[in-house]
Amino acid sequence: MRAAEAPLLSVVVPLYDEEAVLPLFAERVRPVLDALGESYEVVAVDDGSKDSTPVLLLKEHRSWPQLRVIRLRSNSGHQAALSAGLSRARGRWIATLDADLQDPPEMIPEMLAVAQESEVDVVYGVRADRSTDTLFKRWTARVYYRMMRRLMAADIAVDAGDFRLMSRATVDAINSLPDHRQVLRLVVPALGFPSAEVPYRREARAAGTTKYPLSRMVRLTVDSFTGFSTAPLRLATWFGLGGAGLTALLLAYALIAWISGDTIAGWASTFVAVAAVGTVQLLCVGLLGEYVGRLYTQMQGRPSYFIAHDSLGEDPRM
Ligand code: UDP
Ligand code: MG
Repeated sequence: MRAAEAPLLSVVVPLYDEEAVLPLFAERVRPVLDALGESYEVVAVDDGSKDSTPVLLLKEHRSWPQLRVIRLRSNSGHQAALSAGLSRARGRWIATLDADLQDPPEMIPEMLAVAQESEVDVVYGVRADRSTDTLFKRWTARVYYRMMRRLMAADIAVDAGDFRLMSRATVDAINSLPDHRQVLRLVVPALGFPSAEVPYRREARAAGTTKYPLSRMVRLTVDSFTGFSTAPLRLATWFGLGGAGLTALLLAYALIAWISGDTIAGWASTFVAVAAVGTVQLLCVGLLGEYVGRLYTQMQGRPSYFIAHDSLGEDPRM
């Protein structure tokens, strides 16, 4: 396949230490895409894996020419790896898929058919059944999606993860955004392009372990909040107003006590007041810090990933 000819379909797959699942992945995905009878590429983004994932990918690439291997110089995270893949994908339609086979690749042809028939730009894979996920994962996901739905003006599909198909126009739009640390599952619905949904059953991870520890889930949630909503900032304002009201009341109380000569040694009330005000201030400063930090990193203009290698050549966009 020459670099100049754009394939019909690109499938972007982020991989981080996925040596256990990689052979299964190739075995299952290749027949599905070959059966499409259309030109395609699989853009495997190796997110700075420390195991044999890059070696296995290059080995796979030799017998599977449509598999394109991109390696990031360091582990940049799931979302950054997806962004890297999207910026390099050349297809007229672009699907994103996890490497662990939790999202069934067999759905991709169906998504493509839906997109072409109903002329939409985005087809979301929506988890109709995630009974294979742990209770903790399901519960945190539930809270996350409900919360983001309330906070965001755009209507996001609950339980739509990062399994979706997008048109070229959608991906071009995403790539043109200057946003740093994008949360794609929120960026895509926020664009508001015409969309459809396809339900699917979320399977258990085919092999290996999750690459999403609690710390990364927290990071994703903080990025989601600060990237999409000024509601937390407004919350700080409300806290500030509440704190001011409380202070005014305390002041009035102190004044009355002083006038009536009833000055009690209010250790407890003083302590409570100091603590309450301190807490409110800390909260506000913390929230402001999140936004200031975001502005700061954005101003620095550092890309969230650097491409080390692309099996297509030095500059595949030429
Ligand atoms: N992943 C990645 N970089 C990371 C963490 C994860 O590219 O720093 C990839 C991982 O290889 C997988 C996908 O993101 O293909 C989803 O990760 P995982 O399945 O571990 O998350 P979970 O399904 O447990 O939420
Ligand atoms: Mg997974």
